[in-house]
Amino acid sequence: MTSFGPDYVRAIAPYQGGKPIAEVAREFGLDEATIVKLASNENPLGMPDSAKAAMQKAFDELARYPDSNGFDLKAAITKKFDVPADWITLGNGSNDILELAARALVKAGESVVYSQYSFAVYPLATQAVGARAIVVPAQDFGHDLAAMAAAIEPDTKLVFVANPNNPTGTFIDGDRIAAFLKQVPPHVVVVLDEAYTEYLPADQRYDALGWVRQYPNLIVSRTFSKAYGLAGLRVGFGMAQPALTDLLNRIRQPFNVNSLAQAAAVAALDDTAYLHKSAELNAEGYRQLTSAFEQMGIRYVPSFGNFVLFRAGEDDGAGARVNLALLRKGVIVRPVGNYGLPQWLRVSIGLPEENAAFIAALRDVLG
Ligand SMILES: *Cc1c(COP(=O)(O)O)cnc(C)c1O
Repeated sequence: MTSFGPDYVRAIAPYQGGKPIAEVAREFGLDEATIVKLASNENPLGMPDSAKAAMQKAFDELARYPDSNGFDLKAAITKKFDVPADWITLGNGSNDILELAARALVKAGESVVYSQYSFAVYPLATQAVGARAIVVPAQDFGHDLAAMAAAIEPDTKLVFVANPNNPTGTFIDGDRIAAFLKQVPPHVVVVLDEAYTEYLPADQRYDALGWVRQYPNLIVSRTFSKAYGLAGLRVGFGMAQPALTDLLNRIRQPFNVNSLAQAAAVAALDDTAYLHKSAELNAEGYRQLTSAFEQMGIRYVPSFGNFVLFRAGEDDGAGARVNLALLRKGVIVRPVGNYGLPQWLRVSIGLPEENAAFIAALRDVLG
């Protein structure tokens, strides 16, 4: 049999996303309207009205290519985060930023460091360029930054750090990140992936932009997919000093962020009421889910994101089994066996009634 492409591409295990509602309806003979999807850390509020209005305005111009430099969106990011336009890389989701970093910085055979149980895109981006992954064992489900710094080898070009991390929800405080950045050699680039940063309570926030100004080898990535409620549009961005930003932009597809996404993101950035509501709803949902877990005696990992990792059972079949039983009841959560966590499931925090439906289904399933 002929096999195409390099072996490192053939070895990639495809990304497993959350099951779409329509697919679950078809497979289990359910009515779409009764299905609750808590599988992809999406914003349960739906997209912000401000973004919808901005897209409607941009609609008539869709025969034209998007602005490849994303002038308006960069200006809005500059205004909000006080970072110059030539420090910003726009991405087709922040996944794009993670991939651009791997493609721009790492050659086949060189190494990339990331943590066990960290975001699934890190291994994908690493393998796609034929690089070698150095996976550092997690500590209490989170990043062991001291071990990660120690794991850096002479050929290491990139380190991925997710804070908060997905799928575990763990958080590293600012002091520990600062100490880590100080330890990383200057020729190794760190991607600090802050997809959930908007959910952090004020007293947990740290000044990531201050580090970007201090470290030429740091990229901070953010997304509009979670707290900003625009996952379907695919838009995110990276912030780094100009030399690194220039490199990422050289290999970026010129039109990687479409016009509607750019318009929506500009509006969403300014929509502090929506952001605030998202964070409040999330905190409330977190209390709802975790108090139910505690009542049911279910172990969970304390989370700083918009999702919770919980233990479905003690055997290695538990995650898959409970997932299937929940699907039959029209509740979609995320199995995490592909992360090496076959006893666990990840549930996204939804609207109060969605959380309640999940809790009721889980009670039924676990008896
Ligand atoms: C959801 C998520 C992202 C963002 O993905 P997008 O491509 O921006 O939708 C990035 N990193 C982590 C850790 C995530 O969980």
